[in-house]
Amino acid sequence: MNGITIALSKGRIFDETLPLLAAAGIVPTENPETSRKLIIDTNNPDVRVVIVRASDVPTYVQYGAADLGVAGKDVLIEHGCEGLYSPLDLKIAKCRMMVAVPDGFDYAKAIRQGNRLKVASKYTKIAREHFASKGVHVDLIKLYGSMELAPLAGLADAIVDLVSTGGTLKANKLVAVEHVVDISSRLVVNQASLKVKRDALQPIIDAFARAVEK
Ligand code: ATP
Ligand code: MG
Repeated sequence: MNGITIALSKGRIFDETLPLLAAAGIVPTENPETSRKLIIDTNNPDVRVVIVRASDVPTYVQYGAADLGVAGKDVLIEHGCEGLYSPLDLKIAKCRMMVAVPDGFDYAKAIRQGNRLKVASKYTKIAREHFASKGVHVDLIKLYGSMELAPLAGLADAIVDLVSTGGTLKANKLVAVEHVVDISSRLVVNQASLKVKRDALQPIIDAFARAVEK
């Protein structure tokens, strides 16, 4: 593929990447919220955007189906970094990975007593590493969404999930009890593309870097 392909997910990543793209002189011709197209042209005939699931962005970039992508640190940790160069923290889509439990559940006591905790999460790798580093024994239950429901429905004692305002936790009578890791989105670059298409990619990377620092 000649030209540059950029993998983005719709929603906050697309929205918050738009100003960075603009700083590189790239303006998508359509909005994925209103268009059903999965390949979106830009004002630059050599640059196109592909719209994929947030968790699929690293895969597209790793295999070179996209040269660039924007993915949350959560997604990058879960996916692993093979074949990916991740030069830049874009400081967008910021949130925190937290452990949360039902309001009234004595998490500290459960940990102190060495109880085996049932933990539900979409982020099982991050959760496993977090509890292992603390020496806490957990049974991990993999979910694909609506983690907040798991403790309420009796599926798990705790969840590991992304929190920004805490509104969703509160609405479901959950409280965050432990910080796992701060999350923001990073630029990811296919390593082979960076060598072969450096002349086209480096100016985009540099423009993103300057825009982030503003
Ligand atoms: P999908 O909706 O396809 O299942 P997703 O829920 O991970 O995937 P988004 O909700 O668009 O997709 O989140 C994309 C990225 O934005 C996440 O990987 C994370 O890095 C970040 N993110 C998720 N939730 C928040 C939030 N509440 N505030 C800020 N950033 C968030
Ligand atoms: Mg979502």
